[in-house]
Amino acid sequence: HTIIIWDELTQQGRLTEETLPQADIYGIGGLSTSRKRAYQLSRMIRSLGKKVVAGGIDVTGNYLEGNGAELLENFDSIVVGRLTSKLWQQVLADLSNGITQKVYQAGPDEPWEFVLPPHYLINPKFYVFTAIRTSAGCSQNCPFCTVHLVTGGRRIVHCKSQTLLKEELKLLPKTWFPDLLYDDSFGADQNDALEVSLPLLQARGRPWVTEITLKALCGKDGLSGLLDQMVASGCVGVYVGIENLDRPVSAKSLSREATEKAIERIHAAGLLILGSFILDVNGTETPESIRETIKWAIA
Ligand code: SF4
Repeated sequence: HTIIIWDELTQQGRLTEETLPQADIYGIGGLSTSRKRAYQLSRMIRSLGKKVVAGGIDVTGNYLEGNGAELLENFDSIVVGRLTSKLWQQVLADLSNGITQKVYQAGPDEPWEFVLPPHYLINPKFYVFTAIRTSAGCSQNCPFCTVHLVTGGRRIVHCKSQTLLKEELKLLPKTWFPDLLYDDSFGADQNDALEVSLPLLQARGRPWVTEITLKALCGKDGLSGLLDQMVASGCVGVYVGIENLDRPVSAKSLSREATEKAIERIHAAGLLILGSFILDVNGTETPESIRETIKWAIA
């Protein structure tokens, strides 16, 4: 099969009937923020007599919330959860034979698989970062998180094999910007990070940024964790979910004191830190506590 990728969020822009590439089958994936646009795009493609299959985290979450009818009004078929090679072959075979199933789901016993992504299909001029992941899933259990819907369950972490990661790192284009490791939570399997990912990243010799919990990065006390090894292997920035200073969201939460120590260490190590917060995450916030969080973040 020949595959064409069109990302409407880049300079490629919104698809129209004139710019829509010719294809036998169209696949749509996106985040919840793009849901309405996905429906609109699907309507346009289906009005041309073509089939549309949709999948990914928003389709999965929306389906599991009981909105299957809405999804199937808007798409010919949907893939719920992870897409395996076996499942995709089935989707393609069904479409070729004109017998499309409405909902596709990988079998519960199908093992997790990482494949070598076709990086050559991505035009690096449309992106700031080149992206790669070393693992999927997370060892934490934050109640608001949706990662487990695709990775097979809470507290499940799948790690890419050393051989595959090495091969993929060789294929990853080198740009003027750091590489982006888009793991759901880098270092969720600390041993794998220390033994597999970090040595390979160090050997690649490029700066990189990632998403990680403060707990994995700096330890529960703010004074341990993977920070030193990550800096030694080229890490220059981290995205961390601080979420709430005084209301723990899960076992990943650090005390305010440990959070402050951790941030001090991260800055001292020369890393850029992007912190995210979830205001009123457990429904007990007051206007004062929200103001206090904002004041703390700015200070
Ligand atoms: S630490 Fe992040 S990825 Fe892991 S469960 Fe919490 S929100 Fe999800």
